[in-house]
Amino acid sequence: MKRILAIISIIVLVYTFVGLASVDKRYFICPIDYKGDILIRNDNHGSGLFASNRSGSRVHKGIDLLADVGVAVSAAKSGRVLSATQNHGMGKYVIIRHAGNYITIYGHLSEILVRKNDYVRQCQVIGRVGKTGNARARDMLPHLHFEIRKKGLPQDPLEYI
Ligand SMILES: [Zn+2]
Repeated sequence: MKRILAIISIIVLVYTFVGLASVDKRYFICPIDYKGDILIRNDNHGSGLFASNRSGSRVHKGIDLLADVGVAVSAAKSGRVLSATQNHGMGKYVIIRHAGNYITIYGHLSEILVRKNDYVRQCQVIGRVGKTGNARARDMLPHLHFEIRKKGLPQDPLEYI
């Protein structure tokens, strides 16, 4: 009898942890408000899927969400803006820190609508899709470069949104 109880307890514990992990994932929304399916960039410059090949031996650390320049980009989850700046590769980009050791990154924006240290709500518009940084090439389709990292490790955003 004791053994059965122990087994049942273990099963309940496992289900609880699995349940919590999936609840964690459900808190992210797609930063582009698609009316239908999520659209991933696939053009002359390659695939926008997670872990697809990039120049050198690099791999893509996020996904490229197809959207026209100017389309609103929303926070995938509530959090605090860690940076809102620009560099050569990402162009104008925003990084948001979330509970649970997550950060999300939004790159190649045309416009940034938040500032460092701002608190943002989930779904709040934080910027607009653009073609800045590595996305400047004329024959590259406009898109949002979107990353989710957990404890610094890139995750496949399609498993979250
Ligand atoms: Zn990308």
